[in-house]
Amino acid sequence: MRVKAVCDCGRNVRVVPSVLAQAPIMCGGCGKPFRIPEAVGAGVG
Ligand SMILES: [Zn+2]
Repeated sequence: MRVKAVCDCGRNVRVVPSVLAQAPIMCGGCGKPFRIPEAVGAGVG
């Protein structure tokens, strides 16, 4: 299951959380790592 990961510059990608946990996924636009925002993928509601 993939979740949305976001970057400070506003880009977003869908990634598997375990893959993002293995190593950071860097944004080619600003060079910062994508991160998964809170309250995503909990399946609540
Ligand atoms: Zn970026």
